[in-house]
Amino acid sequence: MNRNPFVPLREDFADIVNDRSGVRLLQDGFQFLEGPVWSPAAGGLIFSDIPADTMYLWREGQGCSVFRTPSRHANGNALDPQGRLLTCEHGSRRVTRTETDGSITVLADRFDGKPLNSPNDLTVQSDGTVWFTDPPYGIEPEQQELDGRFVFRLAPDGMLEAVLTDFVKPNGIALSPDERVLYVSDTEDARHHIRCFRLQDGVRPVDGDIFRIIGPGKSDGFRLDESGRLFTSAGEGIWVLDAAGALLGKIQVPEVPSNCAFGGSDGRTLFITARTGLYAIDLSVRGASVVPGIWA
Ligand code: MG
Repeated sequence: MNRNPFVPLREDFADIVNDRSGVRLLQDGFQFLEGPVWSPAAGGLIFSDIPADTMYLWREGQGCSVFRTPSRHANGNALDPQGRLLTCEHGSRRVTRTETDGSITVLADRFDGKPLNSPNDLTVQSDGTVWFTDPPYGIEPEQQELDGRFVFRLAPDGMLEAVLTDFVKPNGIALSPDERVLYVSDTEDARHHIRCFRLQDGVRPVDGDIFRIIGPGKSDGFRLDESGRLFTSAGEGIWVLDAAGALLGKIQVPEVPSNCAFGGSDGRTLFITARTGLYAIDLSVRGASVVPGIWA
């Protein structure tokens, strides 16, 4: 266990630190991990090993087991307000919902009559609206039929709309806890930043601005705590940013992280997917969630 992973850069970083906590390796030996999400229904953390074409479930005291294989090269995962699992699938180029009986419903696989590129990550609003990114990481260049790499808004009535069209490789995506701000990262080499947008009338991202340039490394994925701090993957670990984009401090991780998610019964454990390993660290703050009453 890495006993001193916290690198404070501002005094109020102390608010997130749990002094007794270190970064724990929960399981290694994976190929490339992504898409962590805490699922009370499954009883633990669901996450994706993209090249292994498998999703896993980690449970306290029980370790890891296969959750779904083949996973159609699943990447990002999230819960909807009913606690159902939503998944971005690279291989089948679609976004799905896993129903409580285990059956799978396709939420989106085409736009304008053409296949999506390879949905990467997603976030859900309390009214059930799904926002997802569609970069080309899961396809060959000649397979791209859409004339862009869009950020999509999937309305509760099923209407799919390309709401942001000037990204090169839109990747991580999340909403502020009050759902007034949408954050989206662009992991294109020349950009590697997170942008923020005000949500006009709760549906239209406007006033886009660069929230934070990430480097070294990129912001593949990120989550927010219930106070609106943003926890993102970066080259040397997890960066913790305040709502103005200021860097409060870093959490060092033994491998380069891809993404993170709050979980545990009280929502104060940050799970980190990092290449071949799944890690966790206990914090003093609780994650934001669209599922009412998710944390004990
Ligand atoms: Mg990603």
